[in-house]
Amino acid sequence: MRKTINNSLRIFVISAVLLSTILMLIAYFMQFSINRIEDIKNMTKEAGNCVEHYDQETSIDILKNLYGDSDDVRVTYINPDGSVAYDSKSNAEEMENHLERPEVQNALKVGVGEDDRHSITLGEKNYYYAVKLSDGSILRMSRSANVEFGILLGFLPALIIILLIIIGLTFPVSKSLTKRIMKPINSIDVNDIGKVDIYEELKPLFERIADKNEEKEEAEKIRREFTANVSHELKTPLTTISGYAQMINNGMARSEDIKEFGSKIEKEAGRLLTLIDDIINLSNLDERAHIENPELVDLSAVTEEAICILEKAAKERNVQIFFSRQPIFVKGNSTLIGELVYNLLDNAIKYNKENGKITVFVGETTDGIELSVRDTGIGIPQKDTERIFERFYRVDKSHSKKVGGTGLGLSIVKHVCACHNATINVKSIVGKGTTINVVFPKDNEK
Ligand code: ADP
Repeated sequence: MRKTINNSLRIFVISAVLLSTILMLIAYFMQFSINRIEDIKNMTKEAGNCVEHYDQETSIDILKNLYGDSDDVRVTYINPDGSVAYDSKSNAEEMENHLERPEVQNALKVGVGEDDRHSITLGEKNYYYAVKLSDGSILRMSRSANVEFGILLGFLPALIIILLIIIGLTFPVSKSLTKRIMKPINSIDVNDIGKVDIYEELKPLFERIADKNEEKEEAEKIRREFTANVSHELKTPLTTISGYAQMINNGMARSEDIKEFGSKIEKEAGRLLTLIDDIINLSNLDERAHIENPELVDLSAVTEEAICILEKAAKERNVQIFFSRQPIFVKGNSTLIGELVYNLLDNAIKYNKENGKITVFVGETTDGIELSVRDTGIGIPQKDTERIFERFYRVDKSHSKKVGGTGLGLSIVKHVCACHNATINVKSIVGKGTTINVVFPKDNEK
């Protein structure tokens, strides 16, 4: 059966009707049994009163008349010594002495007695009630404790008809209910959830849709800004390149300027290539939320490699790098982790002061596997520390450009951290320096 609200409602209503019918029948039969017991008590007392004033023979005749033909009720007349004088369902002479029967014992002691047991004489479960007559004899009546299923069978046709009518009714009722429930839901504009007046129960779902819409809008905004920024960032060096190339082409450049123009073209082309590399890296990172086949990466070795690559740039600015290598492993992608370390070190050199220092620490702490890069550079104002991870965000645009920055380095770092479940933290004092901490989880299983 297809999973629809209509079908679920129908199944629910039919099950509820069936269940309540069964429960009602059980309750009815329980009450019915209780009534049968009460009945037999009253009947025994009445019959006792009735035969009380007659001798035994007449009493038995009266009882025979009243109950001799009854299928339901059994009457036993028991002598004070326990021998059976009359039984409406068995031959009294063949019956054993009844003195030890619990209901007889009780009746002899306190006037009345009852019991609920399997009848040895009839072989079925019976309820017995006995009263003591004034001459010491016992009048006992009993009836089967099992509710006869014939009564149930009597109900059955009516019950089946009622059930069929209810089942038949569930079709149009559930259809119209489903329609009513679904009407406001189907008329909803999912892009404009805020204005919808909807069932209270559906609010959590709609809040989630509203959140998703917001996220989508935010992502869309970031994408638009990114496209605008990329176009702008690509255009600037290309304009410069094109300008110098035109001047050379038109013969406007003096021969002594050509070398300088060439080097400027080369520098701008280099900047373009770095920018494009960063864009490609970022778009690759956008595709993955986590590392697919993580490997054990020696964070120290990767750091040393990055230091090697950047050694020349550090020397040019007379920046000293301090790093003591000790093997320490994290789970992840070595190329990405390499890029992360490279970007942090590159920034620590670019935004350092002449003769500055960089201290790199790699090791295990209580929080996890830590990589920290501390520089003695220009620092980052407090208000900018959150934003430096945004794409193309630079604290000082002209300074970043002068040192060859693209504004994408820390966005890449943030992405690499995210897909390694690592946290990143910036502490900085303007004029004194910056420390960036990355903490990889110890059990970097994910
Ligand atoms: P960029 O290519 O401009 O360096 P990043 O994304 O790597 O781009 O960094 C964003 C901005 O954060 C930089 O432009 C710079 O203003 C600031 N920044 C990053 N690292 C440092 C640092 N170690 N010291 C001072 N400023 C920094």
